[in-house]
Amino acid sequence: MNNRIFFDLHTHTKYSHGKGRIADNAAMAAGIGLTRLGISDHGPGCLTFGIDLNGVPSMRKDIEAAKKLFPGLEILLGVEANTANADGTLDISKEDQKLFDYVIAGYHYSYLGKKPFAGIGVVLGGLAHERGVTSSEHARARNTDFIVNSLYENDIYILAHPGDKADFDIDAIAKACEQTDTIMEINNRHHCLTVEGIRTAMEYDVKFILSSDAHTPGAVGNVEKAWERVVLAGLEPSRIINLREDQQWSL
Ligand SMILES: [Zn+2]
Ligand SMILES: [Zn+2]
Repeated sequence: MNNRIFFDLHTHTKYSHGKGRIADNAAMAAGIGLTRLGISDHGPGCLTFGIDLNGVPSMRKDIEAAKKLFPGLEILLGVEANTANADGTLDISKEDQKLFDYVIAGYHYSYLGKKPFAGIGVVLGGLAHERGVTSSEHARARNTDFIVNSLYENDIYILAHPGDKADFDIDAIAKACEQTDTIMEINNRHHCLTVEGIRTAMEYDVKFILSSDAHTPGAVGNVEKAWERVVLAGLEPSRIINLREDQQWSL
């Protein structure tokens, strides 16, 4: 595997629905020479597999233990919160967001929002969109609003896989990321940002990050598919905050 990035802030563990322990992700990260690893399990609103906020002390304890095993590796505790509310609230209150070192946010089918009946409609529309069905202008505007409003409402560090799982206006979302200083993610596990999405977003003054979104320890640090989209889009490498300098433009 090419070692393109020097840190990976989007990885999952058994605390949500990843397969490995925090120490396993850390072992992989240290093994491939990353200097920083972020654990970002799914927010508590995710049906069946969201984290239990009462488990945060245990996550912190596991991180401290892993840091002793891999002293050269900085390990941060993040969270991947859910955006599915028109008022911009996430599935973690602003107060509880402070339990974490940083917040990633994104849209997922597993969180239906504060109005679950409407949330099911969004999921069905999203599934249809992903299969090529054109969504209505209303649906696109509504979906875009809950991302844009969440960017203004919260201190979100990284917007996860923008454009994934439903129809969104990436232009409006990139503009909001610019204004709120939010990093846009090019996700290896999901197809977003797409090549077209990157081209739209790079017109704005935003930074990008490559993330593995690893759900198994072996996938930590792997951003090869995301990198292919960067090259196809022609994104200037210096705009990617975690790209190793010696890896730029080597496909
Ligand atoms: Zn996600
Ligand atoms: Zn994820």
